[in-house]
Amino acid sequence: RPYDIAAFRALIGPIKCEDNPVLVKQKSRDFYWYSPVLKRQLEPVTADLVVTPQDERQVATILAAAHELAIPVTARGGGTGNYGQAMPLDGGVLLNLIEMNRILAIAPGRVVCEPGALLADIDKAAAASGQELRMFPSTRATASIGGFIAGGSGGVGSITWGGLRDFGNVLRLRVMTMEASPRTLELTGADLHKAVHAYGTNGIITEVEMPLTAAYDWVDVIVGFDSFDAAAAYGLALGEQDGILKKLVTVIAAPAPARYFLRHRSIIPEGKSVVLAMVAPHALDAFEAFTRPVKGAELLFVSSRAPRETLAGLPPNYELAWNHTTLRALRVDPKITYLQVRYPEDGGLAMIRRIHERFGDEAVGHLEIIRFNGRIGFAGLPLVRFTTEERLQALIDEHEAMGAMVFNPHRYTLEEGGMKQTDATQLAFKRDTDPQGLLNPGKMIAWADPDFDYASGQNFLFPGLEARA
Ligand code: FAD
Repeated sequence: RPYDIAAFRALIGPIKCEDNPVLVKQKSRDFYWYSPVLKRQLEPVTADLVVTPQDERQVATILAAAHELAIPVTARGGGTGNYGQAMPLDGGVLLNLIEMNRILAIAPGRVVCEPGALLADIDKAAAASGQELRMFPSTRATASIGGFIAGGSGGVGSITWGGLRDFGNVLRLRVMTMEASPRTLELTGADLHKAVHAYGTNGIITEVEMPLTAAYDWVDVIVGFDSFDAAAAYGLALGEQDGILKKLVTVIAAPAPARYFLRHRSIIPEGKSVVLAMVAPHALDAFEAFTRPVKGAELLFVSSRAPRETLAGLPPNYELAWNHTTLRALRVDPKITYLQVRYPEDGGLAMIRRIHERFGDEAVGHLEIIRFNGRIGFAGLPLVRFTTEERLQALIDEHEAMGAMVFNPHRYTLEEGGMKQTDATQLAFKRDTDPQGLLNPGKMIAWADPDFDYASGQNFLFPGLEARA
């Protein structure tokens, strides 16, 4: 559909805009290309205009104008999401929130800021009071807090604190509605589930309040093993050591570490599976005491003891973990993609062993050890050697048949990337906040096609995207 962009611009007056098609297309992209499926599907997607508000008042003006003219609005923070979350499937306005990045208050245990603040900048500001965020995505340097809350799930810190959707990990959100006169709603407690991980489909986050914890000068450690199995067992056991304060425990199977972590080549020998961890300085003794007796464990690296020449140019451990593992693999071998897997709390280790044996080099093991409702368990982001979309689907089906749960990272909808069912809370909230369905269209199946049958084996295809392709 053509939108009346000229009328929109007249309504929003002097608010910062960009209409150069090349720049607009650039800002209409995120890391969707991680997935060969999304890469094919979303290639033609572009907004008509990028609008960059400086404060909440400007956001209200933009939303009111877009509402009046029935123009879709898709929010964007740092654009580092990797399921096309921030891509405007139906064109329209790309709401670039990255310049709304003020840090408004830091108090014991909490920070209040605007949505465009970068995770790294929040931590920098909090450091003055000896505090830091409980968790950040491995894209800390370039991702925004609003985008993390709306599009992420957890990350570095989840070993101790669990995920973003767990109670207490977001304290308050201020969300603006998409109406003739946009309202601002303050969400706390259970109401946070309405907007956390909703891809900005049911409101624009204009202010956030996040919990802080004590900051440490985290020490990066790397432990090598001759088998993935041994590394996974050690990673789980380290994760379960509650007394050893840590921010990250990641397990990566050979041959990936030596093959893909190019800057670590002198540290990680060929054939080693590794456990990467971030340990608090005062916990290092305990960490070593725990690790030393473990059969086959070889301490390959401790950042606090490494010579300055070794450290120069070496990325921190968290930039080898989470989806940075995939990124580093992709840079070496563009045929690599990945899956997101949850293994059961009981018997996870045995299942991981069976899956790893079954797929071998086609799905190289990558585990993040994290806390789920107080219990330590495995999330998986295996590195998959892509051949065809059919084979990728077969791999997913086989994982599920073996009892693992796959959150499909090759889908742009909330439901298909999640639990494959309607989120009634988020849908009801959208009915209230976005009655015309203009916010990030095509990402919530429950809105676009309430009768969609998840059991049919069909992928959801947003008609707006089809029309534009
Ligand atoms: P964007 O990509 O800009 O947006 C994400 C979603 O939020 C979109 O749907 C967008 O419309 C919406 N949105 C943005 N701002 C707002 C707002 N103010 N109001 C409403 N909706 C909004 N994710 C993790 O959870 N953990 C990880 O460890 C992790 N590691 C990653 C590593 C790599 C290399 C890559 C490429 C991605 C990784 N991700 C990870 C995904 C992504 O980087 C994070 O979720 C990140 O926090 C997204 O922030 P962003 O500012 O880039 O969001």
